[in-house]
Amino acid sequence: MSATNYNTVCIRGGLDADPTHGGILPPIHQTTIFRRKVVGEDQEFTYSRVENPTVAALESRLGALEGCLPAVSFSSGTSAITTLFLALLEKGDHVVCSDVVYGGTYRFLVEVLGKLGVTSDFVDTSDLAACEAALQRPTKLLLLESPANPTLKLTDIAANCSLAHEHGALAVVDNTFLTPVLQRPLDLGADITVYSTTKFIDGHNATIGGTLCTRDEAIREKFAFYRKCVGTIQTAHNAFLTLQGLKTLPLRLHQQTANALEVARQLEGNPHVKEVIHPDLPSFPQRDLADRQQVSGGGLVTIVLHGGLPEASRALGALKICTPAQSLGTVETLVTHNASMTHAEMPDERRLQLGIVDGLVRISVGLEDPREIVADLQQALTIAFKEVCHA
Ligand SMILES: *Cc1c(COP(=O)(O)O)cnc(C)c1O
Repeated sequence: MSATNYNTVCIRGGLDADPTHGGILPPIHQTTIFRRKVVGEDQEFTYSRVENPTVAALESRLGALEGCLPAVSFSSGTSAITTLFLALLEKGDHVVCSDVVYGGTYRFLVEVLGKLGVTSDFVDTSDLAACEAALQRPTKLLLLESPANPTLKLTDIAANCSLAHEHGALAVVDNTFLTPVLQRPLDLGADITVYSTTKFIDGHNATIGGTLCTRDEAIREKFAFYRKCVGTIQTAHNAFLTLQGLKTLPLRLHQQTANALEVARQLEGNPHVKEVIHPDLPSFPQRDLADRQQVSGGGLVTIVLHGGLPEASRALGALKICTPAQSLGTVETLVTHNASMTHAEMPDERRLQLGIVDGLVRISVGLEDPREIVADLQQALTIAFKEVCHA
């Protein structure tokens, strides 16, 4: 699919005007139940925990964008992941998962599925040999996240998916950070993609949501069945808002990536910054893989400060435009101190082993004027380190 086509698909794909009155936006079907037409016959919509027409509209468009069956949408990225695992795993199964993975994914595998007899290995999937070693144990599912959160380390999706298939495992990719516009895991061999639509897909900080995508009819049916069992469907109103956000996804991603690269370049010259990570920087260690696998580097920049929690904390506190918060992918620039926010529950030893050091700060670059974003970050860093000298 070409870049121009993405723009069309995000605005037109998978949906026509509403057949009732010709409304160009899908109606918000804010209703629990649907009147039975003929008792004893199946009908498409009956009860909104099972299916809802506004949610189906979102699913249709997401499926068109992903190049797969209609997606299956959920009340959060977390409930999408929960339902995925419950649908595909049973007692005694084994999962291999990227070691730098979304905290909630790690927590669910360890705390919930561990108790139910599913075992999980967390491995550095950027190292193909390490992944292959873990797959020696009979494995049901390989879950990859690339770029990793928040270190932006990349995993070779095609190579790992083909390893998974050689060992009889399903390959799943959490593609929240890049979306189908910048990375196409299903075309690289993945069986399933997962999204937290809360992030780039909505993009406006208005909703929490998630979605699962696949080209396999039987797997899609399982997702819909388990969603009904667990009660994890998206709401009509949030589906409507997500559809609104989705229309500008390619445009936003393009500009957010350009802004992120500008922020990254400028911060490379800041004396308080030890390291700047963005896949489009010449200094990025996995440039070849980034070029091969991603359309561009995306909207996130990770920096490592000369300093730790006190400096990071003062820098976030001194921001005047950017918002200190623990999310990403929205039109507002969000700045996260991962060690104390997204990864606070992780034991220090493991966190440090994964490279999530106390001086690491993740910047999700938004759509404000990039010069003002840069100036805000620079002044906050100056204040953060000035106080240290006087202390
Ligand atoms: C935020 C996030 C999730 C969880 O999504 P929620 O919508 O917050 O439940 C899962 N994976 C990744 C990569 C995320 O960034």
